[in-house]
Amino acid sequence: MQSVTILGASGSIGESTLDVLGRHPDRYRVYALTAHSRWQPLAQACLTHRPRYAVVGEAGAAEALTDWLARNGCDTQVLCGPEALAQVASAPEVDTVMAAIVGAAGLLPTLAAVRAGKKVLLANKEALVMAGALFTRAVTEHKATVLPIDSEHNAIFQCLPGHPRDSLVNGLAGSGVRRILLTASGGPFRNSSPEELARVTPEQACAHPNWSMGQKISVDSATMMNKGLELIEACWLFNARPEQIEVVVHPQSVIHSMVEYADGSVLAQLGNPDMRTPIAHALAWPERIASGVASLDIIATARLDFCQPDSDRFPCLRLAAEAARRGGTAPAMLNAANEVAVAAFLERRLAFTDIPRVIEAVMTQLEVAEPVSLDVVQSADSQARALAQSLVESL
Ligand code: NAD
Ligand code: MG
Repeated sequence: MQSVTILGASGSIGESTLDVLGRHPDRYRVYALTAHSRWQPLAQACLTHRPRYAVVGEAGAAEALTDWLARNGCDTQVLCGPEALAQVASAPEVDTVMAAIVGAAGLLPTLAAVRAGKKVLLANKEALVMAGALFTRAVTEHKATVLPIDSEHNAIFQCLPGHPRDSLVNGLAGSGVRRILLTASGGPFRNSSPEELARVTPEQACAHPNWSMGQKISVDSATMMNKGLELIEACWLFNARPEQIEVVVHPQSVIHSMVEYADGSVLAQLGNPDMRTPIAHALAWPERIASGVASLDIIATARLDFCQPDSDRFPCLRLAAEAARRGGTAPAMLNAANEVAVAAFLERRLAFTDIPRVIEAVMTQLEVAEPVSLDVVQSADSQARALAQSLVESL
């Protein structure tokens, strides 16, 4: 019986994780569930899964949730605030932590799980993008196991030999890997003209053709910053250099990524675009369990298309690749500027095509530092946020 904490249980990945856990009550017990401000989805999940703790971000939400649970006969204890997140991520009773908070807010609780040597199922790519060097060092130091949830990285992991720590420590050297092919759907505006891109609304950007996801990652997919963040994520997870990873647009999202070996073999992982597959894979690894995902109808799929990404229409991909090559605190700055720009776009304060402009201005104006400590990373994050905010206001 494994005891599981879900950080970000009220989100899209959180919900899919609860769905998979609910199919295997004999294998998994829920220890804690967390949400930021929306406590109602957490309340229902507490009734179904009966965790020991529920954590919310605000005192008002904690009070409302406590009342509701008491009225509905559920003895889950409600905690509040960032310390409580770290506590339920690192408690000795916990075996596995699903890191599914969106954005930089996930970094500290995810790191707490890593430092407690947990099995960490990593959906929160922003944590690794921000603090890759510190994060991967902590994984080795505390003998944590990080399993990728991002469908592409989970696919790559399935196509690579060995334990996830092997690639984290030794990299691709000696594994016979020639390159990694990171697939991208291209998002909802794959074929849009620059004029159409300038008029994109939040509703259009959040309507992804293949995947149902939270708002932030949906916008990231539409700008292709998601693929940029994933390129950096892959560099850390597989100890690879950016030039060993090639982004390929594959609009059907059936192949989730590929690994090419020295002998010319290309291994791919295929499946329906449903996050329950990587979640179930990582939960049970190295075993296999049912996820609720339907069989892939390969006949109906009929064709698989591939093309090169267009970094003129999608400059975010180029900006992320540059940040990956620069290293240091550049990826943390890129991530912070992107979070501010995406939030402003969702609030209709910034045009879709101004998202990369804000990020590029931040990247050219700020100095990159060596990420020697969490303080350095967090100060790069705050500086980039402040500058991005003022750029948004001036546009
Ligand atoms: P979501 O917006 O649906 O859910 C986000 C979760 O984070 C919610 O539970 C929310 O309460 C919590 N949260 C938000 N701000 C917080 C804060 N300040 N403090 C504490 N908790 C906070 O997002 P999602 O789509 O589930 O994505 C979660 C993560 O997984 C992201 O990093 C995303 O890039 C990654 N991911 C998602 C998908 C997907 O299909 N949804 C696929 C691959 C990777
Ligand atoms: Mg992905």
